[in-house]
Amino acid sequence: MNKPLGKKCPCGGGKYAKCCEPFHLGKALPRTPEELMRSRYSAYARGLADYVATSWHPSTLPKNFSLDDNPQWLQLQLIATGTHGNRGYVHFKAYFQIDDDIGVMEEQSHFVREDGRWYYLEGEVQD
Ligand SMILES: [Zn+2]
Repeated sequence: MNKPLGKKCPCGGGKYAKCCEPFHLGKALPRTPEELMRSRYSAYARGLADYVATSWHPSTLPKNFSLDDNPQWLQLQLIATGTHGNRGYVHFKAYFQIDDDIGVMEEQSHFVREDGRWYYLEGEVQD
């Protein structure tokens, strides 16, 4: 008999309910830049604009942020991550699809922790 195991998390970390969903529902806070990065990727993949916006540091959040031109996100690949005090980074590649075209974005994202909570600060796209 087939037994459903639940939805897969877009970030590739296993079951959604045990991976990024608690963050998206506000039941838990990411403890590391990597967890925040994964949850933000999953939020992009699931079209959760509010989560993307609230996990973005207010000082760098674009005005009128929306996911209107959000591509279809296919896969997240983490390359490196590190934390130093209240600063952290994640180097990653994210694969996406627009119509029939597949693309990849490679970025080094920077994170900052304030009052025990991690925020996305800014990213450098790598060519
Ligand atoms: Zn996840």
